[in-house]
Order: sequence, then C-alpha cells, then structure tokens
Amino acid sequence: MALLLAGCARGTTSGAAAAPVPAAGSTESAVTVGKRVAERFRVAALASRRFTHAQLWAALDPIVRAPAFRVTEIGRSIQGRPIRAVTYGSGPTRVLLWSQMHGDESTATMSLADLMAWLGDASDVDAALRARLARELTIVMVPMLNPDGAEVFQRENALGVDVNRDAARLATPEARTLKALRDSVRPQFGFNLHDQGARILTGRSGRQVGIALLAPAADESRGYTGARGAARLVASGLVTVVEGEIPGRVAKYEDDFNPRAFGDLMQRWGTSTVLIESGALPNDPEKQRLRAINVVAILSALDAIGSGRYRAADPLIYDRLPMNARTAVDVLVRGAMVVLPGAPPMRADLALNYDEPLTRTRPRVREVGDLSLVVAMDTVEGAGLFLHPSPAMLDDSRGGARRLRIGAPATFTLRRGREATSEAVPVPPSLSPDPS
Ligand SMILES: [Zn+2]
Repeated sequence: MALLLAGCARGTTSGAAAAPVPAAGSTESAVTVGKRVAERFRVAALASRRFTHAQLWAALDPIVRAPAFRVTEIGRSIQGRPIRAVTYGSGPTRVLLWSQMHGDESTATMSLADLMAWLGDASDVDAALRARLARELTIVMVPMLNPDGAEVFQRENALGVDVNRDAARLATPEARTLKALRDSVRPQFGFNLHDQGARILTGRSGRQVGIALLAPAADESRGYTGARGAARLVASGLVTVVEGEIPGRVAKYEDDFNPRAFGDLMQRWGTSTVLIESGALPNDPEKQRLRAINVVAILSALDAIGSGRYRAADPLIYDRLPMNARTAVDVLVRGAMVVLPGAPPMRADLALNYDEPLTRTRPRVREVGDLSLVVAMDTVEGAGLFLHPSPAMLDDSRGGARRLRIGAPATFTLRRGREATSEAVPVPPSLSPDPS
C-alpha cells in the first residue's frame, strides 16, 4: 500500500508555478472548466449506464497510462476482479473518491473517467487548474469498487451483501479494500459517489431530485463537530454549484446516523466525507446529463478544497436544503371511468410504475381507487373519459369476473364513451396497448 503514495514528486506542476491564478480560485472558473471537461473529455466508450469492469478498464487503460497517474491494484473482488486506485497529484491535502460501491450505480464512475481523461491530458486545455490541483491535492480515485455487482448490474456484491452496510464488520473483500485504502491514504476529504432512485421528490417544490447531497453524521448526536464540520462546508459549496445547473432539483439525503455505512464511518474515522447521489432528470435515461453535472460538481469541490476556499462557504446553504422527501409514482391517470367487462363503469384513479423508470418503459398497475393523495411524475387527466383496459391488464382467474390486476402490464385506451367503438383520446405512447 505504501506504493500508492510513493513517488509522488512527479513533475506535473512544472511551468505552472509562475502563472498567476487569482481567478482560478473562484467557483465560476471551476464550474466553467468543469463544463468544458465534461464536454471535451467525455470518455465516449462509456456511452450508457450499464458497463462491465472489463469495459470500464478497456476505456481507462490508455488514459491512466499517462505519466500524471499512479495506478495501484488495491484489492480483488469476490470473483477475483482487480479493484484499482488511480492517483493524481502530490499535494498535501489528500482526497479519496470512490464510486459504484453499489454495482448498478454507475453515473459517477463515468464522471471519474471523464475527469481522468482531462487530468491525464498533456494539452494546454485548462492546464493551469490541472497543475494547481496536482500541487495542492493528492487525488485518489477508485472507479467501480464493486465490479462483481457491476457485472450483473446489481446493488450487492457477488455474495449478495450490500457493501455499504459492511463498513463496520468488513466481511467483504470490497469493504476491506476501501477501509485499507482509507487507512493507508488517510485522506482529509472523501467523496462517496452513488445513484438514488428516480422517483424521489424534493420536499419543497416536489420536483424530481437530480442530485442529493449529504455530509453524513459521525454519531447519533449528528453534530457538526470534527470532520463533519468541514464536510458540511464542502457540501454547501456543492449545493451552490449544482443548484446553478439544475435549480430546484437538489435535495439533502436522509440524515440518520448509520453505524454500518461507509460515509458515516469515514466521517467518524476523521475523513470529511460528502455523499453525492445522482437521482434522475427528465429526458436523461442514460444519466449523461447527470454524468456531466457530477464532473462539474466534483471538479468545483476539488478546486474549493485545494484552494481552501471551501472554508468560506455558508453552512446554512446546506442546512436549508430540502430533504429527499416524497416518493412519487411514475404516472397517475386521474378521474376516468374504468370500463370492466360485465360491470358498470367505475370511477377510479390509476397509479402506474414503469419497470424502467429512467427509460419510462413497461408500465405496470400499482394501485387503483381514490388516489387523490398520490404524487406522480406525470398525470394523465381522465375526467369525463372512459378507460378501456387492454386484456393484459385484467385478471379473469376468479370465476369469470374480470378486474384490474395489480402488477399487470398497464396498457389501455382512453375513450369518450363506454363503448369500445367510441372515439379514442391520445395517451402517452408508453401507455398505449401494444398493437401486436
Ligand atoms: Zn448506493
């Protein structure tokens, strides 16, 4: 493990020392650079959310060969896949970033790849900031901590264990690898990079959460002492940056202390840790916009930490963030008269969830009845109309009586009348009966 920090005195900062950097310490400039990095250094081989360890490292291999990096195998997964750390810079402030501890949460892995592509680049594109980061920081990145989970795109590792509930027991090699790396690097700052569900809404505005942030608690008292105080300031800076990108779509993650989770224990172990959860944005099924926002957010945070400017952040900006609050359903069909064979039409709301909420495909019936308290991402107004379910939506197992089946594929036609021949009203294409 000593290898990881050995040989840090690489000449990545040559030529930059004389350059005046007054503006480079400002949020605006790091955000501007971040946007440019996200666009110009996007690793094109990672084009969608689902990729394997082999695919990731095939894409990263030519990038991390750059002399600016040290690559270390820090452990192996249950199935023997190497877990690697990529280190950049030789500054006194050490920052540890790890992604995809949950195998199906890949957004920030793509962002780390893009950042690496820029950090290792030899051209002069935003080279001043790159050189300054190398001088101020030692950045240790672990993209894809749980490669076995990523292989089958599941949250848990190959044994079915949630690695983020294994920070205390350290029963899994993936958790032991991260803990050993932390103990070796002794980072002052940490970034725990995850994805959260697509159906979570902010408390205040009820918008879908694009990014949720948390400076995790280090103990039950949830005070902002020790490492957590600095983490809160870093998080405040992140709120400002991300709100600038997706106003009203930033929330605070649940703040309960979890004595088995890495974010919480990292904080307790003395590493000021911020959790970044990529949620979902409209029309971003592969989370490519969120990938770019992560690049901007992480780069701005690195800049703020390196320059020390994070200390000037207003903690109230973080404190006032609305919580990850309500869970929405994907679609609510409100107020239609439902036409069931052999029964009079019945007024009922329908809640539907897609099997794939990001791509909005394969809707299923979730709930039927008076759903006036249900919050939905999309609402289809059915008042005054008749909802004719497709046969797949009906259950006829009970003595011939046909009723709506919870969990059934939710495809239907909205018509002006109760007769199957009456005029149809357009519904979103994903809800229309399959013409086959
Ligand atoms: Zn996660």
